[in-house]
This record gives sequence, structure tokens and C-alpha cells, in this order.
Amino acid sequence: MEEIKITRAATLKEKPESSTLVFGKNMTDHMFLVDYDEGQGWHDPRIVPYGPLQIDPAAKVLHYAEEIFEGLKAYRTADGSIQLFRVMDNIQRMNDSADRLCLPQIPAELAMAGITELVKLEQDWVPHEKDTSLYIRPFMIGLDAALGVHSSHHVQFIVIVCPVGAYYPEGLNPVKIYIEDEDVRAVKGGTGMAKTGGNYAASLRAGNRAEKKGYTQVLWLDGVHRKYIEEVGAMNVMFKVAGKILTPDLNGSVLPGITRRSCIQLLKDWGYDVEERRISAQELFDAAENGTLEEAWGTGTAAVVSPIGELAEGDKKVTINNNEIGPVTQRLYDELTGIQWGRVADPHNWITKVC
Ligand SMILES: *Cc1c(COP(=O)(O)O)cnc(C)c1O
Repeated sequence: MEEIKITRAATLKEKPESSTLVFGKNMTDHMFLVDYDEGQGWHDPRIVPYGPLQIDPAAKVLHYAEEIFEGLKAYRTADGSIQLFRVMDNIQRMNDSADRLCLPQIPAELAMAGITELVKLEQDWVPHEKDTSLYIRPFMIGLDAALGVHSSHHVQFIVIVCPVGAYYPEGLNPVKIYIEDEDVRAVKGGTGMAKTGGNYAASLRAGNRAEKKGYTQVLWLDGVHRKYIEEVGAMNVMFKVAGKILTPDLNGSVLPGITRRSCIQLLKDWGYDVEERRISAQELFDAAENGTLEEAWGTGTAAVVSPIGELAEGDKKVTINNNEIGPVTQRLYDELTGIQWGRVADPHNWITKVC
């Protein structure tokens, strides 16, 4: 692998107080870039001062959403070291997304070097306060400057990072979820299983509508039957019904979340039955009615787990676990965050030390 060339910023930014951090807003001093050209492969890996990209206005990414991304975090442990959680899973998923979007595969060691060298250089940006971390956003864009609809021969892989505060500064408060019955996030054969920008653009309208009604997130139904639960906002979703854990199966339109995968592993370790299968919204309303809908939560890197306190569709509305976080949700949160920040043992080798 080519050596990463580092150009340091002439002046460094002032680091923000952890209490003032807004998710995704406080970018650090540097970023990682590497170019890909067909015939040449990946070349010129470099870390440069953070700043605007110069992109041809005809670049495919700007017109045809030829973009994929990842999201992970670097965590500061009690002894001051810095570690990543399941980073190889993120790199593998980026390559799965690349496959769907006709973007080139990036060698795992190159992506890994880009991420770890940037985090090392920006280590003073990894905050120390409880529940804070450095959010890492790797992404890949198609840059061919031509308006024809073709996959790009010139591509860039970029990593930017930013400190983020506690997702729940006031503790884990259950959120209210609205079941979207008009827009869909993804369909089988589409790009639902890929982490690609276009999925998010298509989800904004439903998100805005739910917010106007006073809900935090949208619960997405499948695009064919408009009956089966897929995801909640940009998170995977799980339910505890009559002692069992239910979560939608990875049917092609559900994003294979790494937090989802980790929760399933922990739940199985703890002896729970986990069913990955089709779950209709009706099944959940029925369970709520007969008192067996015990807990519901979303899973994703940003929030880890997010308890769901209310589920609504049209004028139907149910409250889950008295609008309080349930014991399994809490245990998953404690265990996963414990592993991520190095407070508890890591039995599945999910942690990679950076420095
Ligand atoms: C990223 C993402 C998730 C969660 O994935 P994690 O790997 O757990 O962060 C779930 N759904 C969608 C649509 C996503 O983009």
C-alpha cells in the first residue's frame, strides 16, 4: 500500500466544549482522501487540511447520487486510549454498498489505514466526557464529469470526523414513532440494503411530515404490501413480544445494521429467542392490545439503542412499557456502550485499538 502523505493544517481550530456539540457540525482540522481511476486503481492516499472539495458541476454524484457512506465512532477509554467498534464490518458493508452502486471496491487495509491514521492525527479531538465520541464518516463519490448516466471511472474515498456529544444528554427518553403509510424508504431490488445518500433524500418528506405531527421518527413499512415493518427512521428496529425478540429479517430492503447484528448476538448470548422475520404493523397493534408488546427500540451507531414509547398509525395509538425504557433495552444500551467505551469485557473481539 502506498504511504499516506500528510499535509498539516497551518492553524488549528479551537476545540468546542463537549456540552455544546451538535451532532455532525464540528468538523476537525484534517480529512483523508484517496483517488481511484479505472486502469490505475486507488492512488495518492493523503491527509490534508479539512476544507471544501473542488468538484466539477457535471460530476455524477451531484446529479445521479452516485454516493455511499458509512458511520462509526472512535471511543475514548478510561485509560485515555482510543478504540473503534467493529470497524471491519463497516468497511465490508461499504464494499457491499459499492457493489450495488457500481462503485469500485476499496481494499480493507486502505480504508482501515485512512480511518486509523486520521483518528490518530486528530486524537486530541476525541472528547473525554462520558458518552461522547468522535464520529467517523467515510464516504465514496463518483466524480466523472459528464451528464450521461454511467458509472464513474474516477472516484474518491474520503473520511471526515467530528466530535459528538451524548446522544441523550438527559438520559434515554423514549421516542414517539409514526407509521408512514404513503412514502416508502426502499423496495426489494432497490437500494435499501446499501448505505447510499439517495435513500435519505427520499426519506425526508415522510420525516418532515411525522415531525409536524409531533413524532420523532417514521416507522417504515415494506414497499410492496405496505404492511410489514422495515426500519425506524435511519435505525433498525426490534420488539419484545411475549418474552421473545422480534426484528425484521434482512430481506433486501432493510439496511444490515452493525448495531442490529451486535444486539442480536448479545440477546442470543443472554438466552433470548430472536426471530428475524416479517412482522406486520397489525401484529404489533394486536400484541399491544393483548398486553404482550413489552418493549420496542431502534438500533444504530449514533444512538446505540433508542427506546420507543409510542407507536401511531392514522388515529390508532399505543403506548409501550408506560412510555419508559424497558429492562432489555436498558441492558443492551449498558452492555454495548460498556464494550464501546472499554468499561466491560469484549468477548466477541469487536474492539480495535487505534492509539
Ligand atoms: C446506518 C443505518 C442503520 C444502522 O446501522 P448501524 O450499522 O447500526 O449504524 C440502520 N438503517 C439505516 C437506513 C441506516 O442508514
